[in-house]
Amino acid sequence: MDSKENILKGLQSGEYTVLDKPQSNATWWKNFNRIKNKDDKMIGYVQCVRCKNLFAYEPKNTGSSTLKNHVSSCKIAPNSSINTTEDMLLKNNNVPTDVKKNSLLMRVLRCARMI
Ligand SMILES: [Zn+2]
Repeated sequence: MDSKENILKGLQSGEYTVLDKPQSNATWWKNFNRIKNKDDKMIGYVQCVRCKNLFAYEPKNTGSSTLKNHVSSCKIAPNSSINTTEDMLLKNNNVPTDVKKNSLLMRVLRCARMI
């Protein structure tokens, strides 16, 4: 089987592509994309759409518990638009420093809550 490093490289070079169609209607599947190789065959890995980590996935062997567990333990927030707003605030020089400090504090607090 292909190594994770090869797959990650392949995803960048276009040798592998992610299927953005969810595997099933299960909510946790929305966090993962299946990957197919250049022969259009699905491979035994899925990619987390949030942290981009690869996970072995063989429906018959590994099952889905690892994936489901990862959904709740993934450190990347599902709603990245909040972070984007904060990033814009932080990069904008017209925003007073106090607001920036507050925004950073909020981010730290949210991270702490996730752990
Ligand atoms: Zn993840």
